[in-house]
Amino acid sequence: MISRRKLVLGLAGAAGAATLRQALSPSPPRAVAARRALKLPIAPSGWPFPGARVVAPSALFPADFGVRRIYLDAGHGAPGNTGNLSCFCVEEQDFTLSAARALAERLNATGRFDARVGRTGDRPLPYQERAEDAARWRAEAFVSLHSDVRGRIETWSPAPGRTCPLSLAAPGFAVLWSDEGDPALCALRLALARAFARRMEEAGLMPYRGAAYSGLYEPDAAQPGVFVDRHPPDQRIFVLRRPSMPSVLIETHHALDAREAARWTEPATLDAFAAAASAALADTLGGGAALADTLGGGAAPASQPPT
Ligand SMILES: [Zn+2]
Repeated sequence: MISRRKLVLGLAGAAGAATLRQALSPSPPRAVAARRALKLPIAPSGWPFPGARVVAPSALFPADFGVRRIYLDAGHGAPGNTGNLSCFCVEEQDFTLSAARALAERLNATGRFDARVGRTGDRPLPYQERAEDAARWRAEAFVSLHSDVRGRIETWSPAPGRTCPLSLAAPGFAVLWSDEGDPALCALRLALARAFARRMEEAGLMPYRGAAYSGLYEPDAAQPGVFVDRHPPDQRIFVLRRPSMPSVLIETHHALDAREAARWTEPATLDAFAAAASAALADTLGGGAALADTLGGGAAPASQPPT
């Protein structure tokens, strides 16, 4: 068990945040030293440390873009499936519901999207119903939000009397897609996945490099943070292969990394992510040059989809 004091993590609103901010923000050499002391990766963006800036990428909408329907899947909240438990002991199904609501609100505010969160939280919702609902509604993209769990897990106490899992070695986002099924649909999924990862990186978020994904997901040759599903065929992710419109799954961050989990409660992170999502959807659904760029950005993984 690691004590909170020993780690001096930067947790928004928690005691210790100011200490970490002071230790990490004013002088870069001290920040680097602190990261080395904590054996944490030194990312060029500075993410996920407090004070690392996130920015809102600009979306490029073609004149005829119109208003596009986006189905936002708040991951888990399915029968018997609450998802992971974060380093603050928050269930993944609760995080994804609030993140999806925050994203819907921000996408709708652009006037370019009609974004809808697929589940309400009133009852567990099977994934099959979500795919059918999205198709009935004629959604043009299906975006599933999750948080990930990876690496060696320790425990810590984020609040008196509370013990939660913790892992600081593998922060970052991942965008997952499937190359199973109709090639034209697969190409659109890949374009959407690359656009999301590229725009999230532009926003200042850090792509996960995939060390713990070996045998489960294969990294994309062209865009860091993009991975194709390589689970055995009977264990592949439903929302990646079944929706009739292009779908991706976004592991927004590592749920056991207290720095990332704290930053994902901040409005600035939600704003930057929503701007990245808006730009990625414009790049992909807007077609034209942005889509060609995305698809031409490198070869798809060598392995072919199963037939
Ligand atoms: Zn999940």
